[in-house]
Amino acid sequence: MSPVTPNLGDYEQTAAAFDWDTARGWLDGLPGGGLNIAHEAVDRHAAGARADHVAIRWRGRRGERRDISYGELGRLSNQFANVLASLGVAPGDRVFSLCPRVPELYVAALGTLKQRAVYCPLFPAFGPEPIRERLQRGGGVVLVTTESLYRRRVAPIRDQLPELRHVLVIAEPDQAPAGTLDFRASLAGASEEFAIGPTAPEDPALLHFTSGTTGRPKGAIHVHEAVVAHHATARFALDLHPEDVFWCTADPGWVTGTSYGIIAPLTHGVTSIVEEAEFDAAGWYQLLQDEGVTVWYTAPTAIRLLMRAGADLARQYDLGRLRLVASVGEPLAPDAVAWAQETWGKPVLDNWWQTETGGIMISNYVAMPVRPGSMGRPVPGIEAALVERSEDGHVRPIEDAGEPGEIALRAGWPSMFRGYFGDPERYARCFADGWYLTGDLATKDADGYFWFVGRADDVIKSAGHLIGPFEVESALTEHAAVAEAAVIGLPDPILGDAVAAFVVLRAGFERSEDLERDLLAHARQRLGAQVAPRSVRFVEDLPHTRSGKVMRRLLRARELGLPEGDLSTLERAEQGSEGAP
Ligand code: ATP
Ligand code: MG
Repeated sequence: MSPVTPNLGDYEQTAAAFDWDTARGWLDGLPGGGLNIAHEAVDRHAAGARADHVAIRWRGRRGERRDISYGELGRLSNQFANVLASLGVAPGDRVFSLCPRVPELYVAALGTLKQRAVYCPLFPAFGPEPIRERLQRGGGVVLVTTESLYRRRVAPIRDQLPELRHVLVIAEPDQAPAGTLDFRASLAGASEEFAIGPTAPEDPALLHFTSGTTGRPKGAIHVHEAVVAHHATARFALDLHPEDVFWCTADPGWVTGTSYGIIAPLTHGVTSIVEEAEFDAAGWYQLLQDEGVTVWYTAPTAIRLLMRAGADLARQYDLGRLRLVASVGEPLAPDAVAWAQETWGKPVLDNWWQTETGGIMISNYVAMPVRPGSMGRPVPGIEAALVERSEDGHVRPIEDAGEPGEIALRAGWPSMFRGYFGDPERYARCFADGWYLTGDLATKDADGYFWFVGRADDVIKSAGHLIGPFEVESALTEHAAVAEAAVIGLPDPILGDAVAAFVVLRAGFERSEDLERDLLAHARQRLGAQVAPRSVRFVEDLPHTRSGKVMRRLLRARELGLPEGDLSTLERAEQGSEGAP
């Protein structure tokens, strides 16, 4: 295999030369003018030399395999667009999906965009109430789901959703429940020809609900123009090249699984792996080896699980084709970066973004030295700064290297959200002086690398110090006994907040007072007495969102006996495998 020249060779040079018009030029545009995500993702490849190239390689739960070429994906999504048109779905109408990772989900997403309706994915393990709530808030007129998910989760709430006109169900022949349409039969009866109608870059395309880590999930609206950023960020941060085999492990029910699990890789014409099965350490290594994955986009939770499974397991597989590993969703501690370097032979490139930003904003790059624990530098085209909000609604930039501030992004990049669905005031409150304020705190070093401190909601103020949970958690996970840690502040009459740690132990370690003392001493030695936790609580598990984020607000609420708030996205062990069709 010949070495691949990185798309971003020199960070300073690329960032200085880049503007979004250049990135628009990398795309095709609709034949009659305008911009449509599905045209960029599928049709332009389907019509050209890549028609027979594999777009999606699906690996089913029971060992099934299906390769879908760009040409076939173009025809299937045309058929779905025709089905929507025949059902009277108009541009701007909301089409939802509630599906496991099956090929139909990808067809539905792309066909929806072709019909210029707004695509809204739901995570398939949601119970009836989170499904009802989102469909209602988003005003969904069509839902695509599976027969079993329909029977168990949707049928019980269907009569509470008067706006939901049609449910298309993926089912065995003649098994679609009463009151639904058979997805596959509808598709088979539709024409394979479809001409995308005029689409303006500012037309709404996607509605994504946030993870609900800090409170009730918000619905972020994105437009077709977002594809400019999906494509450009995948070029720089994921270094996609046409012959890559790419695997994004995020579920397409969340923004990562849509922006980088559906759209971005297709715009690059690469082969994307879709794995229906859930996480399994040996299964994942087998996949990386057998499919010859070259670029792998995953998350800290998964990397921690692979670390727990051990380096010996990793060494049983040939990961020689793997060129780049990237991570998003949660802070990535330096010990995980080092472990990956040692075990897989390459570091993990951390990158940072949010549902609201639509795409990667701050990132590490193959050609830029990694500083373990840092999220890297703004992607070309993105201006990021650290600011402090003032009382009068303005912001003050923070200039000093090392001083924490809120991450602010200069408004106006292509994949910036254009609204919170149904909440214009909340949207307006996110902006000041031309900046989008992210609610996350970071520091910046003298060379422009960003270092995550914590969410503004999770930051601890103890004895006049501002303490970021990430720093404390990173020190704890360095200890051999610790698999995972979460840190919160608990009210203390003297300190204001006292730092409290919740720790999950690695297999083979027992809870004991000695171990607690040892952990506290380790943390004091690494962090100093003022920043180190005052207490350690051993727990079996930490509360996570279904997208893998630690819900510190829930740890706090439970400790203080306060109301638990919106739990619609809480991962519940007993529901872990409910994503199955
Ligand atoms: P909600 O907004 O509903 O509380 P959420 O913020 O968790 O939920 P997402 O938009 O899915 O919803 O997650 C974005 C957040 O995830 C970021 O604001 C940040 O706090 C965290 N995050 C993402 N990537 C990273 C990273 N590389 N390092 C640190 N934190 C990250
Ligand atoms: Mg958020």
